[in-house]
Amino acid sequence: MAANSKEKQREYDRTWRTRHPDKVREASLNRKHARDMAPEELLAHRSKRAVYSRDYYSHHKREICALTRAWKLRHAESVKMANKLYWERTRESVQAKRLSLRMDALGYYSHGTMECACCGNRFLSFLTIDHIDNNGAEHRRQIKAAGGSGLYGWLKRANYPAGFQVLCWNCNCSKAYSKDHVCEHKRKSCHTTEKNLYELSLNN
Ligand SMILES: [Zn+2]
Ligand SMILES: [Zn+2]
Repeated sequence: MAANSKEKQREYDRTWRTRHPDKVREASLNRKHARDMAPEELLAHRSKRAVYSRDYYSHHKREICALTRAWKLRHAESVKMANKLYWERTRESVQAKRLSLRMDALGYYSHGTMECACCGNRFLSFLTIDHIDNNGAEHRRQIKAAGGSGLYGWLKRANYPAGFQVLCWNCNCSKAYSKDHVCEHKRKSCHTTEKNLYELSLNN
Protein backbone atom coordinates (compact mmCIF):
# COMPACT_ATOMS: atom_id res chain seq x y z
CA MET A 1 0.00 0.00 0.00
CA ALA A 2 1.36 3.43 -0.90
CA ALA A 3 2.20 5.70 2.00
CA ASN A 4 -0.42 8.16 0.83
CA SER A 5 -3.34 5.75 0.80
CA LYS A 6 -2.15 4.34 4.12
CA GLU A 7 -2.28 7.80 5.66
CA LYS A 8 -5.76 8.26 4.18
CA GLN A 9 -6.89 4.97 5.70
CA ARG A 10 -5.52 5.99 9.10
CA GLU A 11 -7.25 9.35 8.87
CA TYR A 12 -10.51 7.61 7.94
CA ASP A 13 -10.18 5.20 10.90
CA ARG A 14 -9.49 8.05 13.28
CA THR A 15 -12.56 9.97 12.11
CA TRP A 16 -14.68 6.83 12.28
CA ARG A 17 -13.61 6.18 15.86
CA THR A 18 -14.38 9.72 17.00
CA ARG A 19 -17.81 9.50 15.36
CA HIS A 20 -18.68 6.12 16.90
CA PRO A 21 -17.39 6.13 20.47
CA ASP A 22 -20.12 3.67 21.57
CA LYS A 23 -19.12 1.10 18.99
CA VAL A 24 -15.47 1.50 19.95
CA ARG A 25 -16.31 0.95 23.62
CA GLU A 26 -18.51 -2.06 22.81
CA ALA A 27 -15.79 -3.65 20.69
CA SER A 28 -13.28 -3.17 23.45
CA LEU A 29 -15.64 -4.75 26.01
CA ASN A 30 -16.32 -7.70 23.73
CA ARG A 31 -12.66 -8.30 23.02
CA LYS A 32 -11.51 -11.29 24.91
CA HIS A 33 -8.45 -10.62 27.00
CA ALA A 34 -5.63 -13.07 27.43
CA ARG A 35 -6.32 -13.17 31.17
CA ASP A 36 -9.84 -14.53 30.49
CA MET A 37 -8.70 -17.33 28.22
CA ALA A 38 -8.30 -20.99 29.14
CA PRO A 39 -4.67 -22.18 28.89
CA GLU A 40 -5.22 -24.14 25.64
CA GLU A 41 -7.11 -21.26 24.10
CA LEU A 42 -4.36 -18.85 25.09
CA LEU A 43 -1.72 -21.12 23.58
CA ALA A 44 -3.63 -21.40 20.30
CA HIS A 45 -4.21 -17.64 20.28
CA ARG A 46 -0.54 -16.92 20.84
CA SER A 47 0.73 -19.29 18.18
CA LYS A 48 -1.78 -17.81 15.70
CA ARG A 49 -0.53 -14.31 16.56
CA ALA A 50 3.09 -15.44 16.24
CA VAL A 51 2.48 -16.85 12.75
CA TYR A 52 0.73 -13.66 11.73
CA SER A 53 3.49 -11.44 13.17
CA ARG A 54 6.25 -13.42 11.48
CA ASP A 55 4.41 -13.28 8.17
CA TYR A 56 3.71 -9.57 8.51
CA TYR A 57 7.32 -8.85 9.44
CA SER A 58 8.73 -10.85 6.53
CA HIS A 59 6.56 -8.88 4.10
CA HIS A 60 7.22 -5.46 5.66
CA LYS A 61 10.77 -5.86 6.92
CA ARG A 62 12.26 -2.82 5.18
CA GLU A 63 9.41 -0.56 6.14
CA ILE A 64 9.49 -1.67 9.77
CA CYS A 65 13.28 -1.26 10.00
CA ALA A 66 13.11 2.22 8.49
CA LEU A 67 10.35 3.24 10.90
CA THR A 68 12.26 1.83 13.86
CA ARG A 69 15.46 3.60 12.80
CA ALA A 70 13.62 6.89 12.41
CA TRP A 71 11.91 6.48 15.78
CA LYS A 72 15.21 5.70 17.47
CA LEU A 73 16.77 8.81 15.95
CA ARG A 74 13.90 10.96 17.17
CA HIS A 75 14.14 9.44 20.66
CA ALA A 76 17.90 9.06 20.91
CA GLU A 77 18.03 10.13 24.55
CA SER A 78 15.34 7.72 25.75
CA VAL A 79 16.86 4.91 23.71
CA LYS A 80 20.21 5.55 25.37
CA MET A 81 18.59 5.59 28.80
CA ALA A 82 16.55 2.43 28.10
CA ASN A 83 19.65 0.62 26.87
CA LYS A 84 21.53 1.65 29.99
CA LEU A 85 18.73 0.46 32.28
CA TYR A 86 18.40 -2.78 30.33
CA TRP A 87 22.14 -3.40 30.59
CA GLU A 88 22.12 -2.66 34.33
CA ARG A 89 19.25 -5.08 34.83
CA THR A 90 20.71 -7.90 32.73
CA ARG A 91 24.44 -7.33 33.15
CA GLU A 92 24.99 -10.08 35.68
CA SER A 93 23.11 -12.79 33.85
CA VAL A 94 24.60 -11.79 30.47
CA GLN A 95 28.11 -11.84 31.90
CA ALA A 96 27.51 -15.17 33.63
CA LYS A 97 26.23 -16.67 30.38
CA ARG A 98 29.22 -15.31 28.42
CA LEU A 99 31.62 -16.70 30.98
CA SER A 100 29.99 -20.11 30.95
CA LEU A 101 30.08 -20.24 27.12
CA ARG A 102 33.72 -19.19 27.18
CA MET A 103 34.68 -21.79 29.79
CA ASP A 104 32.84 -24.53 27.87
CA ALA A 105 34.67 -23.68 24.63
CA LEU A 106 38.08 -23.32 26.31
CA GLY A 107 37.55 -26.59 28.18
CA TYR A 108 36.52 -28.44 25.05
CA TYR A 109 39.30 -27.20 22.77
CA SER A 110 42.05 -27.52 25.39
CA HIS A 111 40.88 -31.09 26.15
CA GLY A 112 40.19 -30.05 29.70
CA THR A 113 43.69 -28.68 30.41
CA MET A 114 42.73 -25.00 30.14
CA GLU A 115 46.13 -24.06 28.78
CA CYS A 116 47.66 -22.56 25.65
CA ALA A 117 48.40 -25.34 23.13
CA CYS A 118 51.67 -23.59 22.22
CA CYS A 119 53.34 -22.21 25.36
CA GLY A 120 51.21 -23.79 28.08
CA ASN A 121 50.09 -20.45 29.53
CA ARG A 122 47.35 -21.15 32.07
CA PHE A 123 46.10 -17.65 32.88
CA LEU A 124 42.42 -17.89 31.96
CA SER A 125 42.16 -14.25 31.00
CA PHE A 126 44.94 -14.74 28.41
CA LEU A 127 43.32 -17.69 26.66
CA THR A 128 41.55 -17.39 23.32
CA ILE A 129 40.08 -19.68 20.71
CA ASP A 130 42.34 -19.87 17.65
CA HIS A 131 41.21 -20.76 14.14
CA ILE A 132 43.82 -23.38 13.27
CA ASP A 133 43.60 -22.59 9.53
CA ASN A 134 44.02 -18.84 10.17
CA ASN A 135 40.65 -17.96 8.67
CA GLY A 136 39.37 -16.27 11.82
CA ALA A 137 38.51 -12.89 10.35
CA GLU A 138 36.60 -14.40 7.47
CA HIS A 139 34.83 -16.88 9.74
CA ARG A 140 33.79 -14.14 12.17
CA ARG A 141 32.34 -12.19 9.25
CA GLN A 142 30.43 -15.25 8.10
CA ILE A 143 28.87 -15.90 11.49
CA LYS A 144 28.53 -12.17 12.16
CA ALA A 145 30.29 -12.48 15.50
CA ALA A 146 31.77 -9.16 16.44
CA GLY A 147 33.59 -10.38 19.54
CA GLY A 148 34.57 -13.48 21.43
CA SER A 149 31.22 -14.29 23.01
CA GLY A 150 29.66 -14.42 19.53
CA LEU A 151 32.17 -17.06 18.53
CA TYR A 152 31.74 -19.01 21.78
CA GLY A 153 27.97 -19.12 21.26
CA TRP A 154 28.40 -20.18 17.65
CA LEU A 155 30.82 -22.97 18.62
CA LYS A 156 28.31 -24.37 21.08
CA ARG A 157 25.43 -24.21 18.59
CA ALA A 158 27.63 -25.91 15.96
CA ASN A 159 28.42 -28.63 18.50
CA TYR A 160 32.11 -27.71 18.80
CA PRO A 161 33.40 -28.50 15.29
CA ALA A 162 37.04 -29.32 14.51
CA GLY A 163 39.47 -26.62 13.32
CA PHE A 164 39.92 -24.73 16.59
CA GLN A 165 42.43 -24.77 19.44
CA VAL A 166 43.18 -22.82 22.60
CA LEU A 167 46.04 -20.32 22.39
CA CYS A 168 47.01 -17.42 24.62
CA TRP A 169 46.82 -13.90 23.18
CA ASN A 170 50.58 -13.80 22.57
CA CYS A 171 50.71 -17.05 20.65
CA ASN A 172 47.49 -16.22 18.83
CA CYS A 173 48.82 -12.84 17.67
CA SER A 174 52.29 -14.15 16.89
CA LYS A 175 50.75 -16.87 14.72
CA ALA A 176 48.28 -14.50 13.10
CA TYR A 177 50.76 -11.76 12.20
CA SER A 178 53.69 -13.86 10.97
CA LYS A 179 53.81 -14.51 7.23
CA ASP A 180 53.92 -18.28 7.61
CA HIS A 181 51.43 -18.38 10.49
CA VAL A 182 53.86 -19.91 12.94
CA CYS A 183 54.11 -18.73 16.54
CA GLU A 184 57.46 -17.25 17.56
CA HIS A 185 57.76 -20.02 20.15
CA LYS A 186 57.98 -22.65 17.42
CA ARG A 187 61.05 -21.10 15.77
CA LYS A 188 64.47 -22.46 16.56
CA SER A 189 65.80 -18.99 17.28
CA CYS A 190 63.27 -18.43 20.00
CA HIS A 191 64.41 -18.44 23.59
CA THR A 192 61.43 -16.86 25.18
CA THR A 193 59.23 -19.75 26.22
CA GLU A 194 58.56 -19.74 29.94
CA LYS A 195 60.69 -22.86 30.31
CA ASN A 196 63.60 -21.30 28.40
CA LEU A 197 63.38 -18.08 30.36
CA TYR A 198 63.61 -20.08 33.55
CA GLU A 199 66.67 -21.98 32.27
CA LEU A 200 68.29 -18.73 31.11
CA SER A 201 67.76 -17.19 34.52
CA LEU A 202 69.45 -20.19 36.13
CA ASN A 203 72.45 -19.90 33.83
CA ASN A 204 73.01 -16.21 34.51
ZN1 LIG B 1 50.76 -19.21 24.44
ZN1 LIG C 1 53.44 -19.75 21.13
